[in-house]
Amino acid sequence: MQKVLLIHYHEMSLKGANRPFFERILHNNIKKALPKDAYTTCEMCYGRIMVRLTERADEEEVRSCIRTVCGIANFSFASLLAYDFSLLCEEVLGALAAREFTTFRVTARRADKQFPLNSQEINEQLGALIVTRLGKRVKLESPDLNCRIEIVGKNIFFYVEKEKGCGGLPVGSSGKVLSLLSSGFDSPVASWKMMRRGCEVILLHFHSYPHTSQASQENVREIVKVLTKFQHRSILLSVPFLEIQKTICAADIPEGLRVVLYRRFMMRIAERIAGQEECKALVTGDSLGQVASQTLENIVAISSATAMPILRPLIGENKDDIITTATAIGTATISAQPYEDCCSLFVPEHPETRATVAEAERCETKVETEKLIADAVAGMMREEITI
Ligand code: ATP
Ligand code: MG
Repeated sequence: MQKVLLIHYHEMSLKGANRPFFERILHNNIKKALPKDAYTTCEMCYGRIMVRLTERADEEEVRSCIRTVCGIANFSFASLLAYDFSLLCEEVLGALAAREFTTFRVTARRADKQFPLNSQEINEQLGALIVTRLGKRVKLESPDLNCRIEIVGKNIFFYVEKEKGCGGLPVGSSGKVLSLLSSGFDSPVASWKMMRRGCEVILLHFHSYPHTSQASQENVREIVKVLTKFQHRSILLSVPFLEIQKTICAADIPEGLRVVLYRRFMMRIAERIAGQEECKALVTGDSLGQVASQTLENIVAISSATAMPILRPLIGENKDDIITTATAIGTATISAQPYEDCCSLFVPEHPETRATVAEAERCETKVETEKLIADAVAGMMREEITI
């Protein structure tokens, strides 16, 4: 029997006329994610995607690759059966004989109405054979084993387990964004959430080298590598930020406002880079009230530094939920390592929690804003990370 990977992606079927567009991107992303020697063909199949696996395909490896493809609702390792009821019954009986279970049900779905039996007839007739030939018992509610038969065009699939995919939309279907990435827990999760909504995410990190070590930049690179599994290829932009921090600290500016000013500079620099990289929005890992710089007042004061939309996918999330997601996607262990973030430098003991736009703008007249931004952008390093 031909082994296949059967992929369902129901959310995209809601997209009407755009559906072929989403399907084409998903189809491409699946091919890019799978090991080359694991499959022979990857075909669209009436609202599903069918991947024919090779003998060499390692199920564990295929599973871990396919779980990183955004836009997949669920997937199954299935067998492609003969298009003939008595033959397919024998194939199913043969496969089930190797499994341990006491109770079962058959769940047939028929997208092709030309098949001589309807779903209910398949359920009943195949079910009866499993009872008589294998001595198993029917149980419709929570059986030990669910024998699923799916008839799609001239293909008939048989599978038992349905595994959850990443969900969301395929990366590349929603445009490009620029995500401000530190090595904390939050911004990697925020970046991932945008990927899962179909965005291609360019990553922007501000570093304070040589005041902070190269190891802290290495942590960020490790995080980008993990995130790259979800979009296959990433651009990491690293911008020097130390000069700006030193200048703000040396100027006649209230200490409490430093973090808000750092963030406003980050937004302005990000805006400039977003233009170069053709990104339509900025993304941050802010979560309301989590730290002093993330009060509503400060978020307003920071946002006013740019006219670009700033997306904050974690704004209403609790820290423990964010860490749960970070653990699931694989960034938590890296974020948990002690690191020196550029913004933990020169941070006052009592940061302002109610900054105003007017106050921030007044402080900024005391430094050469335009020059500082231009120098930072000029010092940017760009690297491509692929898997
Ligand atoms: P995170 O866990 O993402 O570091 P945080 O809870 O530490 O977030 P802040 O340090 O206030 O919060 O940062 C808020 C957001 O600003 C971050 O989520 C990130 O998007 C951005 N940011 C902070 N520091 C940097 C940096 N060094 N480079 C790029 N973006 C940064
Ligand atoms: Mg941080």
